[in-house]
Amino acid sequence: ETDATSDDQDTYLVATDNNYIPFEFLDNETGELVGFDIDLMQAIADEAGFNVEFEQMEFAGIIAAIASERFDMAIAGMTITEERAESIDFSEPYYDAGLILAVRADNEEIQSIDDVDGKVVATRSGSTSEDYLNSNTEATVEAFPEITEAYQNLLSGRADAALYDVPNVLYYADTETGGEITPVGDLLTGEQYGIAFPKGSELKAQVDEALATLMENGTYGDIYEEWFGE
Ligand code: GLN
Repeated sequence: ETDATSDDQDTYLVATDNNYIPFEFLDNETGELVGFDIDLMQAIADEAGFNVEFEQMEFAGIIAAIASERFDMAIAGMTITEERAESIDFSEPYYDAGLILAVRADNEEIQSIDDVDGKVVATRSGSTSEDYLNSNTEATVEAFPEITEAYQNLLSGRADAALYDVPNVLYYADTETGGEITPVGDLLTGEQYGIAFPKGSELKAQVDEALATLMENGTYGDIYEEWFGE
């Protein structure tokens, strides 16, 4: 925390990811960090009366970085889990997601998670999907630092399927690959995203209060509509 800005507000350092479309990613043209989480965090900061500075890092490192208080907060489409809550605190939930399997559109063998045993399934290191695959399937799990690498392995045929959060799979399937990869089967888990804080951080109460206000006054809905179009 520093308070050296011209407007006299505190500035907090926020860890984020830059490979998680549409929550936080680098705009193709401008190279700028953009996404639903970035807009939401900025709106929370405006509402609560502080400044935020984003620092991009690999997703798998964020929890340890927060637990060791290297950052004041993190927003990274991060699922609230009991295990993570042992080392960090979470805000109230701000987004409902869940995991879904994706395959190449021409694939006929894999129709659901029951078909992945013995197959190569790509995902991201340190994610809830990696945990899910290791705990619930006999698939050969290949976990990459960036989720885009998992989709590339699926597209090229090095992986038979990919498992990830449904909003990311849908965005990637529709927008990035124009239908070359496609989701199959049911939503496998219900997950909720939270903003992360070091244990005992006083910022949690401020963020929760601002988030509740944004959900009531329509700001959250406007940001949601901008990124998810509903
Ligand atoms: N929601 C997933 C998790 O928390 C993935 C998050 C991400 O890739 N940024 O593990």
